[in-house]
Amino acid sequence: MSPEGPSDPGAKVNIADKLVRERRARLAAERLLEQKSRELVAANGRLAEHARSLSDLVDGQRQDLHAARSRAAALQGRNNEIESDLERALAAARQAQRRLWQALETMRDGFAVFDGDQKLIIANGAFVALFQGRFALRAGQTYDEVVRAFARDGIIDLDGCDEHDWHHEMAARLLQPEIAPRVVRLADGRFLRLSDRRGEGGDLVCLATDISESMAREAELEEARTRAEAASRAKSAFLANMSHEIRTPMNGVVGMADLLCATDLTEEQRLFAETIRTSGEALLTIINDVLDYSKAEAEKLRLCPQPFDLERCLHEVMLLLSPRAREKGISLAVDFDLFLPTRFVADPGRMRQVLTNLLGNAVKFTAAGHVLARVVGLERGDGRFDMHFSIEDTGIGIAAEDLDRIFAEFSQVEDQSDRKYEGTGLGLAITRQLVALMGGEIWVDSEPGRGSCFGFRITLAPAEPVAAEGSDCPVALKRAVIADGALVSRSILARQLETIGLQVRALRSGAEAAGHLAGGAICDLLIIDLDGEGGGSTVADLVVRLRALRPEAALLVAGTSPPLVPPGEDLTDGFLQKPILRSDLFRKLQDLSRGLAAAGGQPAAPPAAGRLRVLAADDNRTNRLVFRKMVEGLDIDLAFAASGREAVDLWERLRPDLIYMDISMPEMDGRQAAQAIRAREAAEGLGAHVPMIAMTAHALEGDAERILSAGLDRYLAKPLKRAEVARPIEELLAAVAPIGPPVDPPLNPPGG
Ligand code: ADP
Repeated sequence: MSPEGPSDPGAKVNIADKLVRERRARLAAERLLEQKSRELVAANGRLAEHARSLSDLVDGQRQDLHAARSRAAALQGRNNEIESDLERALAAARQAQRRLWQALETMRDGFAVFDGDQKLIIANGAFVALFQGRFALRAGQTYDEVVRAFARDGIIDLDGCDEHDWHHEMAARLLQPEIAPRVVRLADGRFLRLSDRRGEGGDLVCLATDISESMAREAELEEARTRAEAASRAKSAFLANMSHEIRTPMNGVVGMADLLCATDLTEEQRLFAETIRTSGEALLTIINDVLDYSKAEAEKLRLCPQPFDLERCLHEVMLLLSPRAREKGISLAVDFDLFLPTRFVADPGRMRQVLTNLLGNAVKFTAAGHVLARVVGLERGDGRFDMHFSIEDTGIGIAAEDLDRIFAEFSQVEDQSDRKYEGTGLGLAITRQLVALMGGEIWVDSEPGRGSCFGFRITLAPAEPVAAEGSDCPVALKRAVIADGALVSRSILARQLETIGLQVRALRSGAEAAGHLAGGAICDLLIIDLDGEGGGSTVADLVVRLRALRPEAALLVAGTSPPLVPPGEDLTDGFLQKPILRSDLFRKLQDLSRGLAAAGGQPAAPPAAGRLRVLAADDNRTNRLVFRKMVEGLDIDLAFAASGREAVDLWERLRPDLIYMDISMPEMDGRQAAQAIRAREAAEGLGAHVPMIAMTAHALEGDAERILSAGLDRYLAKPLKRAEVARPIEELLAAVAPIGPPVDPPLNPPGG
């Protein structure tokens, strides 16, 4: 406040100014204040906003922190759990390891493991003890070092073997895919079996088992067995000696009884003497069996191998049995493999004994039907033959439960108290021994009421080297009619004839055969079994009738004994002893063929209407058989040649309509044979050209040309197929079919 009063005008102006200025200043100050307060409010608002967001942020972070803390707590818990699990697992593993180790330590067997580099990882005490302190076994040593130590440090008994050799052998053992166990003897006399096995990752686990006890037991058993065998041999030797001693006087008894029978005796005396003789013979048979059996047991049976005719031996046995078989009305048949040689090296006496035992039993235990002996064989690489014998009967058979024991000594199926069949029960035991001695085995198949089949297998060397064409029998005969009442012998004979190229009609009786021929059937060979044809006059009538029907055919009669025909009245071309010996049959057929050829003609009647003559040449028997099978059922006459040369000869003689020619044959091959045939055809100048078909395994390019240039018309690649083989024949057959009655030239060579 100014000190001037209001009475002064100037002062009054000043005061008013001052007031105006003051007012203005105050207004300005108020405005400023107002502005500042607004700014303050805005700043305050911003501050509050910022504070709020800061607080939100803090809040969020606090929550995150909290979550992280609880996660950390949970992890800590899990961690503790895992840690304790780990501790437990570790404890368990330690315990398992301890137990395993304890187990390994308690084992009496040495045990060691080597790693993939064959370095020792662990070995138990027993393994360490094997070295008896002579070698310090340590982890890290190689298998090789350990094995070397075995030999070098005198731990094992090398039994004269060189230390290095042994070591090499043991090392080589490890290279095998399967490491074979190895038994070694320790220097202290114990025996160890070393079994090594590869484990995972190339580990090698070694086990050394002490087998001293079982070795000792085995040795004891072996000794006991040797003693028992020696005792058994001594017993058998005693039996053998005794039987032999009894046999000598028994021979005297039987011989004298025989002589006595031949003297003048009363009816009663004859009965007594006959009884002494037959009883003596029966006793001798038993003693012989006992003797043989004891000899076999005492290992005194020795084989005396020598060349002999096996087929003949079999027939002789059959012949001996045939009176009994005839009495009982059973037929005997032999089926001896056509492709087998007949002469072999073996002990003929023992072979006969085996066959007699088996065939004798077959006849003994059969009341009706047949007994068939079959022999088949396969050539082995070494030239010997795997032979398979079977003796088949249609007798009483053997029950399954008895099959096992019949090969045992003194064993018979029949109840002792009620015996219908005589015998010692030793036959099969001896037979088995003999077959075993021959290096073979024997078996039986049987069905009660239906029959039995005994079989044995042995390997035999042929007596002579087998010729490539050993059992082949080229004969000029073409068509056979055979008659035999027994199905088995009939089919065997038919097969034998078919195999050598004959066409066979098999009938059941002579009468049937006569009827067949009377009906116009054509044949050039007749084989009639007379055994079933009744007595002498009936047989004679039959022969006369057959002769009249087919004067040009060869007529053979077969039987267990030759028919009684006065000399000069025999209308037949020969007799075949039954069971028919294959070699006899073939020899007869060849003789007949030769005889007829020499007489300038073939025995054959003109060929049947429309029949094609087909010649097939192949040096291999099996191939010929296959060929025959493939053309079976076709209406042809088939002849076989076994070589190129034979093919040319047969072409000359048979003038076939078609030739199948194997190319590779020894001596003269198929091409040369074809050339020869073509040359002869040309020389004859008749313009003939027989179709020739080559059969070859070399169906290579170029070969075809070579084959065809030799005069062959076509070729077939081996292996042959039925359809391909048959086609040329069928084509030819179709070509000639519509032509009427036969105008074929005869089968024999021109001018023959
Ligand atoms: P056995 O001297 O009694 O014939 P084997 O040892 O030869 O003695 O035969 C033993 C037994 O085997 C015979 O008693 C018989 O019971 C049986 N057996 C052998 N072969 C035949 C067979 N072919 N058919 C039926 N049983 C047979």
